Amino acid sequence: MVPRDFHPLSAAEPPFFVGIDLGGTNIKSGVVDNAGHILGYAHLKSEVERGPEKGAGRMAEAASQAAAKAGIDLSDVTHAGLVTPGTMDTAAGMLLEPPNLPGWSNFPIRDRVSEHTGLPVAYANDANAAAYGEFWIGSGSVYSSMVMLTLGTGVGGGIITEGQLLDGANSHGGEIGHMIIDSSADARVCACGGQGHLEAYCSATGLTARAIEAINSLPESEQKPLGPREALTPLVLHQAAESGNAFAERMILETARYLGVGITTLLHILDPAAIVLGGAMNFGGATNPIGQKFLSTVSDEIRSRALPIPAEHAALHFATLGGDAGFVGAAGIARLHYQNKE
Ligand SMILES: [Zn+2]
Repeated sequence: MVPRDFHPLSAAEPPFFVGIDLGGTNIKSGVVDNAGHILGYAHLKSEVERGPEKGAGRMAEAASQAAAKAGIDLSDVTHAGLVTPGTMDTAAGMLLEPPNLPGWSNFPIRDRVSEHTGLPVAYANDANAAAYGEFWIGSGSVYSSMVMLTLGTGVGGGIITEGQLLDGANSHGGEIGHMIIDSSADARVCACGGQGHLEAYCSATGLTARAIEAINSLPESEQKPLGPREALTPLVLHQAAESGNAFAERMILETARYLGVGITTLLHILDPAAIVLGGAMNFGGATNPIGQKFLSTVSDEIRSRALPIPAEHAALHFATLGGDAGFVGAAGIARLHYQNKE
């Protein structure tokens, strides 16, 4: 959740940046200082159905409100960062065909938000930005390089090497969820239509689908405690596992093993100092017994598969910024652009 006790302006380190995180439901905006302290925050409904031009105005409104909460004017901000779901062309500042933003196709979002805010705007993919937020001030902040996987409805990702965010030649860098982990003919089908992708196994959707299939092979008496099939979610499985349900725990830890397979490939290609797991599906995180088992199972899988040196040295953590990661990362990307220009 968003912290409500903000860093005081009197102790802030200028220059200031504003991050804007556009999602299908909400626009989140926060003003962040040069050291990554959050000074003010505001959110508005995205109202996607009213179209992108109205949306650009609302993003500027959210940024103005965040600035007001911080005790400054939006014109006191040096640079804005805007992050959205894809598909996108980040270099051109364009949304292309975003499935979560129907009616917003081929919209020059970066420049329109820049006009509405009166600020220069850096533009990035939301999952990449969330990774950058964790790298800047979250659980990746002590590492020189980091990969984040975001486990939610889908599996997002972001890669930071040498302090820079990997964007790619076609704004598709860090699409970790679409890494192939199963090339067999009956591999699961991903939401993107591809087969055998990590997301088809390790997203909330993937875990739920696997669990519903597996329930059928259980005796009737063991099916009952899990409730109606259509109400099954990772949270239901988590709660069942916490109360000792062996099937639920097995499904959760199977997810961890698939994740370990994918992460092993990331270690072999990128050799990052840390892997961070973000997103809503964290099984209570590092302080929860199931969250701990989930993390240690990912770790065991990596150790059994990866080359010894990266397997031993790569750190593995849950993310710490939660829903703040997007706008914090957006502000961080604004800061990167500002520094790269200086
Ligand atoms: Zn896919």
